[in-house]
Amino acid sequence: MARRKKVYEGKAKILYEGPEPGTLVQYFKDDATAFNAQKKDVIEGKGVLNNRLSEFFMTGLAQIGVPTHFIRRLNMREQLIRSVEIIPLEVVVRNFAAGTLSQRLGLEEGTPLPRPIVEFCLKDDALGDPLVAEEHIIAFGWASQQDLDDMVALALRVNDFLSGCMLAVGIKLVDFKIEIGRIWDNDFQRLIVADEISPDSCRLWDMETGQKLDKDVFRRDLGNLADAYTEVARRLGVLPSNVTPASKPTLIN
Ligand code: UDP
Repeated sequence: MARRKKVYEGKAKILYEGPEPGTLVQYFKDDATAFNAQKKDVIEGKGVLNNRLSEFFMTGLAQIGVPTHFIRRLNMREQLIRSVEIIPLEVVVRNFAAGTLSQRLGLEEGTPLPRPIVEFCLKDDALGDPLVAEEHIIAFGWASQQDLDDMVALALRVNDFLSGCMLAVGIKLVDFKIEIGRIWDNDFQRLIVADEISPDSCRLWDMETGQKLDKDVFRRDLGNLADAYTEVARRLGVLPSNVTPASKPTLIN
């Protein structure tokens, strides 16, 4: 294979130059990190599952008219995406209390919220991605008021879509994080969903048992992460045929 130019390497993905201007190749690694990369491991098969799951969600979003960076999946670990200028904010949507919201406000995990809550965190690993208010975002110029309104509208559409997808397969969407990018069509700027949508960036609980099927399995040492993601992929009908769940081999007589 021809050498490709690496544009960026993050904790879970690598971006390479794409075949045409304005495109990138997004490669999903098996690396898992938590607590601002203080906890690290390699989870065999995670990248393959997240590539498929992100394809599934991004394709569905496009079908209901929510613009995303996804163009097409290239292989088991790579997808072709539109190059965007990432807005340096993590957009978190919450339907039930969990994680840092529970800690900050003393809410029991799983408490239903009166309405979906959209939060913004500054993308800055050195600072631990701090929660920021709209005031900070506007004052420091990370996004405009119009961008913020568009980001909230996009995030809530993604929330309704993902909540519905999950409900259909017996999973509760507790919360999730997305990243949003800018693209230009001539002089006209648009915001689109970028990065990935996968169990790495969602909280997913089984409706019946409350079992966690997301990265909290890794963060909180609750079992095998690949098994949890495989279960999500299996329920959604997107399990790649050539990836077997990460269980022990069994003898077939
Ligand atoms: N999240 C993420 N990346 C981050 C921080 C949060 O994908 O850097 C996701 C996380 O998986 C959860 C949601 O955003 O689904 C809300 O996370 P929270 O603020 O509770 O922080 P956490 O407990 O994950 O540190």
